[in-house]
Amino acid sequence: CGIIGYTGSENDVLEVLMSGLSNLEYRGYDSAGVAIANDSLSVEKREGEVSALEDALPETGIDGLAGIGHTRWSTHGPPSDENAHPHTDCTDQVAVVHNGIIENYQDIRTTLEDDGHTFQSETDTEVIPHLIEDALADGANPEQAFREAVSRLEGSYAVAAVFQDSETIYAARHESPLVLGLGDDGHYLGSDVPAFLEYTDRVIYLEDGQFARMTPDEIVVTDREGAVVEMAVDTVAWDP
Ligand code: GLU
Repeated sequence: CGIIGYTGSENDVLEVLMSGLSNLEYRGYDSAGVAIANDSLSVEKREGEVSALEDALPETGIDGLAGIGHTRWSTHGPPSDENAHPHTDCTDQVAVVHNGIIENYQDIRTTLEDDGHTFQSETDTEVIPHLIEDALADGANPEQAFREAVSRLEGSYAVAAVFQDSETIYAARHESPLVLGLGDDGHYLGSDVPAFLEYTDRVIYLEDGQFARMTPDEIVVTDREGAVVEMAVDTVAWDP
């Protein structure tokens, strides 16, 4: 239902994600979760309110290079801790959040399970990290693996991924909204502007079929074929 993401040094990653999730609560949801990339991936997710997730977080916080968060409105699999996003692959290299519906997930899942993948949830979303894992195992780099996985999906999606030990966030959309935010020393990602508006009002609206790669220093938007697209930066009219 809602997505937030952040990479950068101007703010604490966990803090941006948790405030983003609170800002997204108005959309309605049944579970919430975050994934933060460092030497390894830290994933915390809970059925219920953002406050339940907050209670589950370690008191010391979680340090991170980059992170993604999600509020879920279930379509495939009932609300539960396991079905909450982010979802990970078998090797815990990648974490994925997704809004929308993957129409062909059952076919993909059956093929992946025949190939030895073990699933931890009943969601349509979980096929994405496993597809990425397969592409990585075949020698793809993270960006190629993300693109390859997304190219297999039919349906609607706003999807974002972080990889272990990386400050890069990968995102793509088709028939579900995604907006990127430009800070001074960091970049934001949201399913809508209120997710991160307290941090920046400079935004890029991603269009259907586009991909984005964000680090603290740059945002690169590409089309389905991988060609770089120059995007307009809008300033959101905002009266605090
Ligand atoms: N279809 C996904 C699920 O059921 C995502 C739902 C959403 O947009 O929150 O987990």
